[in-house]
Amino acid sequence: RLALNTGVAVNPKVVGVGKDKSDRATLDQVLDARTRLVLGSLKRRGIIDDIEYCISTGKEANVYYSGRPALSTDSASPSALAVKIYRTSILAFRSRKSYIEGEHRFKGEYTSSKNPRKMVRVWAEKELRNLRRLHQGGIRVPIAIEQKENVLVMEFLATGESASPRLKDAELSQEDVARLYSELIVIMRRMFKHCKLVHADLSEYNILLHDSHICIIDVSQSVEHDHPRSFDFLRKDIHNVHDYFTRLSRGDIGLLSLRRTWDF
Ligand code: ADP
Ligand code: MN
Repeated sequence: RLALNTGVAVNPKVVGVGKDKSDRATLDQVLDARTRLVLGSLKRRGIIDDIEYCISTGKEANVYYSGRPALSTDSASPSALAVKIYRTSILAFRSRKSYIEGEHRFKGEYTSSKNPRKMVRVWAEKELRNLRRLHQGGIRVPIAIEQKENVLVMEFLATGESASPRLKDAELSQEDVARLYSELIVIMRRMFKHCKLVHADLSEYNILLHDSHICIIDVSQSVEHDHPRSFDFLRKDIHNVHDYFTRLSRGDIGLLSLRRTWDF
């Protein structure tokens, strides 16, 4: 493990490096100094433990595994954590503009790429708020624990020892397919009508199969139902989901009954 000067140890495997002296340089690129300070303070506050391994590397964020902190006194807190760290590089959030713009919740916030640090903080904050709103609305999502700057700490959704699979990677029987499809339709409708959110990046990649149920993740780009482009995003979400399940069911899904359900 590499110590990070900030009291948080990171397993070198996390960043896919060996044991030579270039470790430090590689680690620096993945977790910049500010981010390491944030992790250090989260650990001192007993919110996270050491970063054990990398769950996922993406264009805009990496997700890491952290055990339940030894300091934790809250018995209701999850037994393991997923720590999502948003990249602060300019490239990463150019594509986010169209989601943040038009969000009345973030009027006057730093929505331009002039200040990458603040922009990315807004993004992480948005995911935290969306997760909480969905949870309160009865949608299965990881429980959001804390957000500081570009770091979001949430419940780690596990199946056995490993992360719960994405819908894309889950092995499903035809009965599962039908059951999960109707579950998802109810969820999407509830998200819109009750939680007043459109996911805006919904697909088999951003849905986990957890305890045999649909669990929604990756909601940093989700928008209010009255966002000027909310219907474009909703249409796309419906299209993705519909397409995927049609493929899974080899065309066997009752499209007509579906149309009636989509009574937005
Ligand atoms: P990205 O912006 O990189 O797509 P996601 O929020 O979709 O970020 O997370 C990337 C991947 O990390 C997911 O596909 C999932 O496999 C895993 N993951 C994310 N959050 C959790 C969680 N709370 N528990 C378990 N795995 C997670
Ligand atoms: Mn994703």
